[in-house]
Amino acid sequence: MRQIDLHIHTTASDGTFSPKEAVRHAAELGLSAIAITDHDTMAGVPEARQEAERLGIELVPGIEISTRYGRSIHILGYYPDPEAPGFKRDLDWMIRERDQRNQQMARRMAADGIPISYEMMHRRFGPAIGRPNFGQVLVELGYADSVQDAFDRFIEKGQPYYISRQMLPIERTVETICEAGGVAVLAHPFQYRLDDRGLRELIELCMDHGLQGMECLYSGYTQAQSAYLLKLAEEYRLCPTGGSDFHGANKPLIQMGSGKGALRVPESLLEGLKARAAG
Ligand code: AMP
Ligand code: FE
Ligand code: FE
Ligand code: ZN
Repeated sequence: MRQIDLHIHTTASDGTFSPKEAVRHAAELGLSAIAITDHDTMAGVPEARQEAERLGIELVPGIEISTRYGRSIHILGYYPDPEAPGFKRDLDWMIRERDQRNQQMARRMAADGIPISYEMMHRRFGPAIGRPNFGQVLVELGYADSVQDAFDRFIEKGQPYYISRQMLPIERTVETICEAGGVAVLAHPFQYRLDDRGLRELIELCMDHGLQGMECLYSGYTQAQSAYLLKLAEEYRLCPTGGSDFHGANKPLIQMGSGKGALRVPESLLEGLKARAAG
């Protein structure tokens, strides 16, 4: 059985591989399919699709959206139509909110004498700048030893340059993906520190608004954790998905396809996802 990776970020958001490079890397690794799931944008999809066609690997168009639910919960969307009016409007709003946050972050850093400007960030990273991009620049300027160090000391919640941004409510996010013809999937369920009951409440709320899948295989999840999530997915009749959350050099411990080493996502999971997209 060949392997796939359904959770990959590119330079269209906060990854360091261009869409083309990501697809090439996937081909080198022998993956049969990958999904591009950038934060708040599908701008990387056309370039990735073109390269995927050339190399004979399957490209799944996707997106990842941070939503509001007490703490932030991430929803993956697969196969939504980026031109669907309501979805497009929501994405434009998210990018604007992100942009405002980014301007404030850059301003606050500049006020402390760090030679960073929003214009410089925007020129280099495009419209969907993420905190890891700030981390990257803080490393280059010698203020941090690594992107992780930059998060820990400067840009993680509670640190001096952290500024929150507005997010859509989780219900609306699931709906907007569904309305655009996409399959909404709950991303990395163990990142939210919910107990079984809390996770079930989250799943049930999302399912009321159209959730169809759950990311059961993810970088760093143990066999036991994945088995638990797969069982939960089966119980709720959610389609299980899996991916690494590859960000290139911005998350250096995570490899495409294999995550922190042990991740293996079988091609068969893509069939389930495609069945939901078609149905
Ligand atoms: P943003 O959406 O711009 O606020 O940035 C969120 C991105 O930062 C996501 O891709 C996360 O994976 C990444 N991120 C969040 N917290 C951390 C952390 N403590 N260390 C490294 N990356 C993080
Ligand atoms: Fe990210
Ligand atoms: Fe995420
Ligand atoms: Zn991600």
